[in-house]
Order: sequence, then structure tokens, then C-alpha cells
Amino acid sequence: MGAVGKMLPVYTLTLLLALFCSMLIPDAVTAFSEAQAEPGLPTVVLDPGHGGEDGGAVSPGGVRESGLNLSVALRTRELLRFLGVPAVMTRETEISLHSPEASTISEKKVSDLKNRVAFVSQIPNPVLVSIHQNMFSQSKYHGAQVFYAKTAGSQALAEALQARISACLDPTNYRQAKSSEKVYLLEHNSCPGVLVECGFLSNPREEALLQTDDYQKKLAAVLAATLAEQLTSDE
Ligand SMILES: [Zn+2]
Repeated sequence: MGAVGKMLPVYTLTLLLALFCSMLIPDAVTAFSEAQAEPGLPTVVLDPGHGGEDGGAVSPGGVRESGLNLSVALRTRELLRFLGVPAVMTRETEISLHSPEASTISEKKVSDLKNRVAFVSQIPNPVLVSIHQNMFSQSKYHGAQVFYAKTAGSQALAEALQARISACLDPTNYRQAKSSEKVYLLEHNSCPGVLVECGFLSNPREEALLQTDDYQKKLAAVLAATLAEQLTSDE
């Protein structure tokens, strides 16, 4: 945590810049003019979970996880590029990434995940950031949580993201970054990887919040600023 403390002024400036710019984005995502990316920086691969016929978790009110994942990822990509960090997405529209030969639901799911792994593997020097929404049988649970792969650098990145998400968006969120169990994408990539569960669709307050432009912009600003700071201060 010492390093985090030392970096706070830089981070704060980056966050303010990202937040200010995110507030300028109209509700539809608008392309920023991109800053010149620093040579040698990793490329952030933003992975909006699910998509198309696989809506992921669906709230009791019918809100599908996949659309929220996509919206948060698109906003984060724009801000990362603005901050000079290369960023790409596994999907940019509301589609499943399965191959045409997959026919059953389970074949499509497996094919979709394999294609995401294949996409990440052809990106030079990638850092995977998968975006999801959480769901539980009881509505009282809330709060974003970040999970990390076993690969080098993943835990530190997840802890930084968890700390900033909690501090900036929800000081009552005491969740800790956690090692992922059985997350296919994190287990099948050799690069640093984290999965951000942005909040619980089973919690009515958080379900409403996650759908607002204002909260999505703040979330994207925190993700982009933290990623920019972590990935540029490693060298
Ligand atoms: Zn999900």
C-alpha cells in the first residue's frame, strides 16, 4: 500500500482529468482524439462479459448484465485512449462471440469463451480487464469486487482497482480483491488479468445506480485512471 500512497497525487490528477472528461462525453459514446500512446505500454484488453443471446445475469426487473458490461467498457476504452493507454475490446456491440458452427447453448458459450482467449492471445503485451455484473439470491448484498488471475501482476492490479473503486464510489464497500476461481478467461490467458464485478443486479439500489450515465461515467473514470497509473508506473 506504500506505493499506492506515494502515487496518490499523480493518480488524483489522472482521476480528476478522466472524471472531468467523462462528464463531457455525451450519453452516446463519442470518440476522443487520442493522446500519443507511450511506446512499450501494455494494451488493455477490455472484455465486456457475455453478449447477444447470452445476456449474463438478469436482474429481477429484467436488466441484462451484458448491456451494462458493454456500456462501462466502451466508456473506459475512450478514457484510456484519451489518457494515452492503448485499449481494445473483445466486442464492441451487443453480440455473442461464438463461432458459426456452435449450435447448442453450451457449445456457443464454450466457443464464445475460446474466441475471447484467442483474441487476447494475439494482442502484443496485453492486460485483460473483464467487465461483469454480480448477482446473488439475496438482495441485501452490494458492492463492486475485483478478482484476479494467478499470473504475475494480476493481484497488485486488482488490489489497486478494488481500493480506488471503494474509496471513490462507495466507502461502505469493504470487499477485498480476491483470487478468481473457475473463471475461464482468467485461467486460460498467460497475461495479467482481472475481472471487475461492477455491482449486484440483485440489489435494487445498485441495479438502478448501474444503469445511470452518471455512475457509469464515474466507474469508467476510476477504472481508466487506475489502469493508466498502474500501467505507466510499473516500468
Ligand atoms: Zn457475468
